[in-house]
Formats: sequence, structure tokens, C-alpha cells
Amino acid sequence: MQLDKIVVASGNEGKIKEILKIFKGCEIVPMREAGFTGEIEENGKSFRENALIKARAVCEKLSLPALADDSGLCVDFLGGAPGIYSARFSGEGDAANRRLLLEKMKDATDRRAHFECAVCLYLPDGRTLFGVGQTFGSILQEERGKHGFGYDSLFFSDDLKKSFGEASAREKNKVSHRARALADLTERLKTF
Ligand code: IMP
Repeated sequence: MQLDKIVVASGNEGKIKEILKIFKGCEIVPMREAGFTGEIEENGKSFRENALIKARAVCEKLSLPALADDSGLCVDFLGGAPGIYSARFSGEGDAANRRLLLEKMKDATDRRAHFECAVCLYLPDGRTLFGVGQTFGSILQEERGKHGFGYDSLFFSDDLKKSFGEASAREKNKVSHRARALADLTERLKTF
């Protein structure tokens, strides 16, 4: 299926920038620019459910195809936390989230972690299409690098052999959970 215009159902600048760089082939408009002003309550129990909730809310309001990403960091030592609660881990934003993660990982020897992403494309006729992606690595003892957003400076990527904070946008977009989820979606879109 070929789409001309897709609204990105996200207010997160970091995510929007990445999606704009990765998802080529049609016009991508951030939801605020497309006229969506409301807040969306993310009360799903999985990345997939939350992506669906966001994409549906924006599509139903604007009557345009909407693409949402729900993603987060899953840390083995913390039993998969913060997971779907990654954005709200500390309740005080990205920098405080990173501090809290370091504090909780103070005595951890097993520092394995992965980022997970589910993307949902919701069409005005009610049809949905999903893509999923993961990327593996470990949690550093301290922040490294200034690029990216969220937990990037604490995530040492197995693929890149450096932190996402040290990686350029181009490098991160080759291996990230978001890029992989969008590639999965693009592949499925071909036969949709
Ligand atoms: P969401 O908006 O509910 O999907 O929250 C995603 C949260 O997970 C973000 O606010 C970040 O804290 C974290 N996260 C997701 N993807 C990334 C990434 O690529 N780099 C760093 N942090 C991420």
C-alpha cells in the first residue's frame, strides 16, 4: 500500500526527529503541526497496546493515517523495568530518569538491557498494521555522550560498541529498536 501523508502521533521531539529521518517515501507530519492538541492517556499494558491507543486517538481526530511509536528500556536486573513506564520512571523527566536508573543499578553486575519499540499505523477505515523492533546492549556505570534523548547516554549498544549518546543519528538509526520496528512495518505495508 502507498500512502501520501502520515501524521506522527507523538509529542516527543527525539522520537519525531528519528522517525522523520527513517521513514521515507511519504510526507510525515508531527501531530501538533497537523492540528492535534489533546493529551492521550497511555493506559495500555504493552508497547503494542499503547502504540495502538495513540495512533487511534490521532487518526480518529484528524481522519488521516496516523503512526505511533511506543518504546522503552527493559533492564534484566530490574525484571524488565522501566519498560512501558520508561518515560515516567522518576516522574521528573529524562535527566531524573537517568539518575534513578544509575541509582537502582548501583550494585548490579548483570547490566544487560534492551530497548523495545512497537509502531502502529492506524488508517481512517479502522485497519491497523504493527511493526516491532528491539536492540540489545548494557547499562553503563555513568553517562557517555551527548547525542540522542532519554536513556541514550546510559545505553552501550552491542551493535555499535559505543553508547547511543556517543553515536551519530545516522549510526543509531542503523541499529535502533525504532528503525527496526519501522523497517518491519514498511515490509508489512508492501503486502497490506
Ligand atoms: P513513550 O513516549 O511512552 O513511548 O516513552 C518512551 C520513553 O522510553 C522515552 O521517553 C525514553 O525515556 C525511552 N526511550 C524510548 N526510545 C528511546 C531511545 O531511542 N533512546 C533513549 N530512550 C528511549
